[in-house]
Amino acid sequence: MKNSQSHFPCEQCGSDLLYSPEHQSLECDHCGFKNEIPVSFEPIREYDFREALQDLERLRSSGQLSQVGVIKCPSCAAQFELKENEHAGNCPFCSTPVIKGTEQSRHIRPRSLLPFSITHDQAINVFDNWMKTRWFAPSALNSHAKRNDKLTGVYLPYWTYDSDTQTQYQGQRGTVYYERQSYMARVDGRSVRRTRNVARVRWSPKSGRVRRHFDDVLIGASKTLPRTIIDNLAPWDLGKLVPYSEAYLSGFRSEIYQITVDEGFLRAQQIMDYTIRQDIRRDIGGDQQRISHASTDHDRTTYKHLLLPIWSAAFKYRGKTYRYVINGRTGKVHGERPFSFIKIAAAATLAASMAGGGAYVIDQNGGFDNIQFGSPSSYYDYQTTQPTFQGF
Ligand SMILES: [Zn+2]
Ligand SMILES: [Zn+2]
Repeated sequence: MKNSQSHFPCEQCGSDLLYSPEHQSLECDHCGFKNEIPVSFEPIREYDFREALQDLERLRSSGQLSQVGVIKCPSCAAQFELKENEHAGNCPFCSTPVIKGTEQSRHIRPRSLLPFSITHDQAINVFDNWMKTRWFAPSALNSHAKRNDKLTGVYLPYWTYDSDTQTQYQGQRGTVYYERQSYMARVDGRSVRRTRNVARVRWSPKSGRVRRHFDDVLIGASKTLPRTIIDNLAPWDLGKLVPYSEAYLSGFRSEIYQITVDEGFLRAQQIMDYTIRQDIRRDIGGDQQRISHASTDHDRTTYKHLLLPIWSAAFKYRGKTYRYVINGRTGKVHGERPFSFIKIAAAATLAASMAGGGAYVIDQNGGFDNIQFGSPSSYYDYQTTQPTFQGF
């Protein structure tokens, strides 16, 4: 069955047109034909959260959710939309071969996205530079070609929430005062009476109400990447969202959300609560504050379901998965770095014989890194770097 909406044949040669981050257009790899993506002036809409919950409830209770084709990873449970002519390949999050299957459809469709602006070439350069500074990288990634092969462009699913909040609270305001206290001290072997000021807090009850409007609280709707990675990809230029169009997805994977719109709102509330507690403390005033009770009403809560672009590579090394992720808009990098134990051991022996002992390893720049040998096979750390791009 042909689905003409998710497939863009080249007008000149019939090959697949792919989205080009460089020209923000659809391009043919074979003949070079370019096709502009029409600019949409449709505003980015917010959707009513309560209506979404009612829809979700109705669909869950009536079992009306249909089955749709997906590509899924048997290892990390990532799910991608199945597109026309899509070859399976490896999971961009864990490097396991993915399989075609069916899944209960997610009834909320993404309505906006940030298109890729970092090209595959730029992403591979960032990856290459990152690997070059990692002297202890495993040989599984030691060639440009292997890295080129691993790097996949993926749109990750996100929710954003807006809400008008009003919070009733009860608590106490603490006022610091000083009390004069006398005490005995020993001076030159004699007991003498002295006085000092001691800080005390006087607590008085305080209750009240605070209001705050939240705009675009962003929650990742994927469970495949760890939160440390998701959080490290921020910030995103959400002001540049464009209305969803399949054209931007041509040549890229798009992950299907695993955190539902209601689960996402629970996470958003935790983020909002943190800010609300600061508002309450400010409202209580005084020198110290205690909050004994707070209850928040949400009004005019809206959501958006959107897609954000990343370049992702995953590789397995000694049974562990390591991930390397680039923000597809800014080029910000987050990677997990494996070390080859054999290379480290060899370097440590060399360094020990040179330096006369101690677990020091000479790094690439000729400096010394104090390396700790925690696990006998391999260990890793987290590294976040912000490469500089000219012209971005
Ligand atoms: Zn063509
Ligand atoms: Zn996977």
